[in-house]
Amino acid sequence: MKQYTKQYIGGQWREGRGKEMSNFNPYTNELLYTYKGANQEDVDDAYKAAQAAQVEWAATTPAHKIQMLKKLIPAFESLREDMIACDTEEGGKSIHIGGVDLNYIIEAIEDAIRYPTMIQGTIMPSNIPGRECYGYKVPKGVIGVISPWNHLFVLAMRYTLPAIACGNAVVLKPSSETPGSAMILAEAFDKAGFPAGLFNVVAGAGSEIGDYFVTHPIPAMHSFTGSTETGRRISELAGRHFKDVALEMGGNNVMIVLDDADVSKAIKSVGFGKFLLNGQVCMAVNRFIVMDAVHDRFVEELTAMVKSLKCGNPSDPTVNIGPLINNTQVKSVEAFVEKTLQAGATVAVEGKTEGNVVHPWVLTNVSNKMPTACCEVFGPVCSVIKVSSEEEAIAVANDTEYGLSGCVWTEDIFRGIQVSKKVQTGNMHINSHPISAEYHVLFGGEKSSGRGRSGGQWYINSFTKEVLITVNL
Ligand code: NAP
Repeated sequence: MKQYTKQYIGGQWREGRGKEMSNFNPYTNELLYTYKGANQEDVDDAYKAAQAAQVEWAATTPAHKIQMLKKLIPAFESLREDMIACDTEEGGKSIHIGGVDLNYIIEAIEDAIRYPTMIQGTIMPSNIPGRECYGYKVPKGVIGVISPWNHLFVLAMRYTLPAIACGNAVVLKPSSETPGSAMILAEAFDKAGFPAGLFNVVAGAGSEIGDYFVTHPIPAMHSFTGSTETGRRISELAGRHFKDVALEMGGNNVMIVLDDADVSKAIKSVGFGKFLLNGQVCMAVNRFIVMDAVHDRFVEELTAMVKSLKCGNPSDPTVNIGPLINNTQVKSVEAFVEKTLQAGATVAVEGKTEGNVVHPWVLTNVSNKMPTACCEVFGPVCSVIKVSSEEEAIAVANDTEYGLSGCVWTEDIFRGIQVSKKVQTGNMHINSHPISAEYHVLFGGEKSSGRGRSGGQWYINSFTKEVLITVNL
């Protein structure tokens, strides 16, 4: 893959002024590149450049914004091979799904080009004779976007594109695990000819520049995707400085399999719904809650499916499960499994660790209090919890601090809707897996999983503010 050593600030590629940082291939452990991280001065420069660029950008017509956004499509297409290499070598993503991110980004651009013309205001009557009241929706200004390492291309663009389409400027702080992906995004904006400063990337350690990035006086809002722990800190800091936040955080998502479910179809969905990105997806199934009538068949078919998955080098197109992002993540997954086995769970499929590749585990006789069930594992571990009734399934599903996504399998759609309404989570899917976030559709978490909603009209609500102007006629 290419070497990504520069920051993208004010339309310029320049060296960071922070400490030296290194990035490694999570499968081979080879050094990919070293770079100077961004420091506080770089953050200052990026925010100032964004503030200057935003004013002019906001004043352009919707047609101009749409024309510019459309230019991103060929720009990204020309970077297709770089994106795939970076995703596989930096992020450990299986190469056979490498091209998918480009498709997602193009979909996101096609969705974002609708927003400049969707923004509408309100006219309200006044009790003051001769007065009219106009509510305008205007851009918030500069938006700080903070992204995690999993699915960086998509998760950064998911918020950057609508923010820019609504007339804002963006400063992106990517995860230190995947800064190269963020630099490819910057390359695309650069190639498309966006005004200098409208989109900036400052890659640096969250522990060093994170608090400064959040509390800086220029950004009006932060759009954060990452862990609940970091989200809580960002929320507290932003609250103290009266900044808006949109938070997409961790999940402990369920697949509920009711006694009338088509078990085989449910199992087919697990390949994507559990093992996409080697199990490192916020919406992936963490708990399989299965009614006793279908439990044994479910475990039998799940076991067979999981045993058929191929693990190893993500550059091999036949491999389904590659490495976790780093060894800390590997150790964390191993510890979850070990403690759950000590607590009395049974092994249906025994995983193992080779380098940073964790082969999948299937654990049965799991209770909701055991570590792989009560925590977000973020790895290829299936925990199966047996329940005896629909009510118990719902109670177990809700017994968690999280509320991001989930799914229920049943041949009775009405029953599926009733169960879904009782599960305390932002997104539920009937007869599908829980990994779903279409750009034009409502999305977001509750409880410790999220604040705010994204998708379609909800993006516009997030990235604009309403102001009142009255006129005495
Ligand atoms: P993370 O450790 O919370 O990091 C996320 C981002 O926050 C990184 O860019 C990180 O930078 C930055 N950061 C760290 N400390 C900060 C601070 N004090 N101020 C500002 N930014 C700071 O999360 P992760 O490990 O990258 O991602 C995995 C987590 O994300 C999982 O919990 C997953 O469920 C969640 N996730 C949620 C969604 C969703 O839509 N709900 C989607 C994807 C992932 P550094 O890397 O430099 O530390």
